[in-house]
Amino acid sequence: MMKNGANVWSERRVGVLGLGRSGRAATRLLAGAGAEVYASDRAYSAELRAWGDKISAPRVEVELGGHDVARLETCDVLVVSPGIAPTADVLQSPEVRGIPLISEIELAYGFIDAPLIAVTGTNGKTTTTAWIGSLLQRAGLRVGVGGNIGLALSELAAEAVDYEWIVVEVSSFQLVYTRSFKPAVGVLLNLYPDHIDWHGTEAEYYAAKRRLFENADADSRWVLNGEDSKVLDLAAGQPGTARHFRVESPLANGVDGAYLAPDGMLVMRIAGQEIELVAADGLKTLGLHNVANALASSIAASYAQVPTEAIRDGLRDFEPLPHRLQPVAETDGVLFINDSKATNVASARVALRAMDRPVVLLLGGRAKGESFASLIPEMKGRVRSVIAFGEAGERVEAELDDAVAVIRVQDGFADAVRAAAESARPGDVVLLAPACASFDMFRDYEERGARFAELARQLVA
Ligand code: ADP
Repeated sequence: MMKNGANVWSERRVGVLGLGRSGRAATRLLAGAGAEVYASDRAYSAELRAWGDKISAPRVEVELGGHDVARLETCDVLVVSPGIAPTADVLQSPEVRGIPLISEIELAYGFIDAPLIAVTGTNGKTTTTAWIGSLLQRAGLRVGVGGNIGLALSELAAEAVDYEWIVVEVSSFQLVYTRSFKPAVGVLLNLYPDHIDWHGTEAEYYAAKRRLFENADADSRWVLNGEDSKVLDLAAGQPGTARHFRVESPLANGVDGAYLAPDGMLVMRIAGQEIELVAADGLKTLGLHNVANALASSIAASYAQVPTEAIRDGLRDFEPLPHRLQPVAETDGVLFINDSKATNVASARVALRAMDRPVVLLLGGRAKGESFASLIPEMKGRVRSVIAFGEAGERVEAELDDAVAVIRVQDGFADAVRAAAESARPGDVVLLAPACASFDMFRDYEERGARFAELARQLVA
């Protein structure tokens, strides 16, 4: 599946900055293409060292514990990991300034022949990427799915599989350093201010997202949130075909796409022809935001010629991804839902809106400086109690105490989950949507979610 463009690398000296999953995959891909590679990471770990030692290509050098700018200076191009912000010291050093920078997806793109469906937006990328992949699989298409989930795009590019489509989750960090990247189908789910710390300003963040359209032409196909003015602004005037999705109200006359009808049906409209898909309450995912993701996925699948019946089956069968509003246990009428991925206030708000039963909400962890009080409107009439835990527990209590019942738990996470279960009555949901990072108690949100699921199952047993 390699493009001829892949050959150019054998004559280049390439620096790979940052050796997370995508940086390691980029190193492998470049090594396979015969490039001379200097791959480095500020961090040192035994695991990384073992990985570096395993790469036995003669032209590949792996350095850990720092970047050597003198070596970087000799590179023709640098592949920059998403973890390295433009303001990072290494990119600011005079030796490195002026060297062309590309992201790992830009690198991988040059190796891939299959048409790409690129999914971006502030929230819902992973879910929608996986969902589109499953719809295409349903239709029997050979589809590769990657980006942030599972395989890096460079890993897909290195496989000897003749994919018919590749679905890739694309973050703003990856888009910043694209040049030739040109998806056949681009999905833009929504835009909220996010990652300002990385990009510098809100405008820079949107500018990165706009790069999705950089190489658009008349053959480009777009899936756009028809209810998000920022999305529509970014896409305005771009060449290609656009289809919109909407959950609050139907599509305007003359606009193709998909929408949630007032009777609760997901409906697709293509060339003016309306096709009923499935009822929203027939989805296994929770919440209106997931209806939006389902509609976006259906449109992307329609561009890939997936038959309607396969779209219907794939919509009905799709299970919530782990840690994203995932029901994990149920006892005495109390349902435990793991939304550990809700690491900011905006996603906790989305989670609350998705609840149609009284909620005992676990809030806390390492705060990001956002206001918890801004959740009060969503809490009214929904939240029985808030369990405030972790580093942010005191702030959660201080900001919410006047509006809802707050139970502060100063001991460990297990005590917080137990307190939540005790506070819940039959028919309630115990929801972990903590609106905070996990790093005060856990390695990452996945470890936190897994622990929640384990504790919930123990309580049930
Ligand atoms: P991402 O990969 O963009 O972080 P995920 O699919 O992992 O997105 O979902 C992360 C969180 O974002 C979810 O827990 C949910 O709270 C929220 N979310 C998901 N889809 C949407 C959407 N379409 N609109 C708004 N919020 C969403």
